[in-house]
Amino acid sequence: MSTEISDLLAHAADGGRISPDQALLLYTDAPLHALGEAADAVRRRRYPDNIATYIIDRNINYTNVCLTACKFCAFYRAPKHEEGWTHSDEEILRRCGEAVELGATQIMLQGGHSPDLGIEWYERIFSAIKGEYPTLTLHSLGASEVVHIGRVSALDHAEVIARLHTAGLDSFAGAGAEILVKRPRTAIAPLKEDGETWLSVMETAHRLGVESTATFMMGTGETNAERIEHLRMVRDVQDRTGGFRSFIPWTYQAENNHLKGRTQATSLEYLRMIAVARLFFDNVNHLQGSWLTTGKDIGQLTLHFGADDLGSVMLEENVVSSAGARHRSNRTELIELIRSAGRIPAQRDTLYNHVLVHADPALDPVDARVHSHFSSTALTLLPVASAAAS
Ligand code: SF4
Repeated sequence: MSTEISDLLAHAADGGRISPDQALLLYTDAPLHALGEAADAVRRRRYPDNIATYIIDRNINYTNVCLTACKFCAFYRAPKHEEGWTHSDEEILRRCGEAVELGATQIMLQGGHSPDLGIEWYERIFSAIKGEYPTLTLHSLGASEVVHIGRVSALDHAEVIARLHTAGLDSFAGAGAEILVKRPRTAIAPLKEDGETWLSVMETAHRLGVESTATFMMGTGETNAERIEHLRMVRDVQDRTGGFRSFIPWTYQAENNHLKGRTQATSLEYLRMIAVARLFFDNVNHLQGSWLTTGKDIGQLTLHFGADDLGSVMLEENVVSSAGARHRSNRTELIELIRSAGRIPAQRDTLYNHVLVHADPALDPVDARVHSHFSSTALTLLPVASAAAS
């Protein structure tokens, strides 16, 4: 290892800020183990309690109708397509009820950009969910939906955000970021808002008191320098607002979409990105590793490369699954993945408060119903006793 790289790793591990050029050097040239060790040192300093978290939530994909036609997307159907659907209010509420029954604390409403859904539709459904299930946190939509709703309802971004928030939206998901850098974003999502607009909507939301997460979908043909530039764009906004609670990189899934087979990120590239993100984001609290797109083994390894969170059990997910993400898990397995990585597992809420710390394996919750599903088919709710025994 060169002196330049070892000095840089020591500087970043101590909490010093690194530049985008330095991050790129570490991403491409630092030895993997040294990179992971430095990132883990940052994680240990931030979380000396040795806890790593997961959350129980449900993605409710309310419509697959979408005008935006992203080339990486296997989920959407164009308006008037015979396979297009939009869930009724009753169906969405029923799915929320099931999620509450299974211990979910958070709902992620995510869907296509349907020309038929304006601000009133979102206000109505958010109010209805909060009215019926006031304890559920609505961590939903994202900057792209704000832009779309603004177009459909002729409102500016601040008005859309304020009205959604008033109706019950608690925070925005980081969806729709994919890659924010102009060249690769235009190549994979030419009809989506540009990266600067995505960030500007998030900045507006943060200023209005609505926090969010930030994501990154790796592996659609971007260069290494463009990967780091994506991080820089997020960090610059975070310096001004502090409103990104976490950074969540994941990998492009190649099935059933127009980019199929073009490129994907390898597991090692993913682990290097996790570690560099932990070193680069001195201003973002949490870093989530993805088991859904990279598999449980790589997901578990992220806990040694700087991640402090493994995300959701995902009681339902349809979008990434449509593109080929076949990995499934359950609460028991996520707890064990975290524990066997040498960490103390804890269920968290959207704000990263610990809901339940699993310090004693003998007291681990046992409910076989709390596992991930990947179809729009409603969950089968078995009685707790028989489900636990199965
Ligand atoms: S990723 Fe979202 S915005 Fe893009 S086509 Fe799919 S549903 Fe539409």
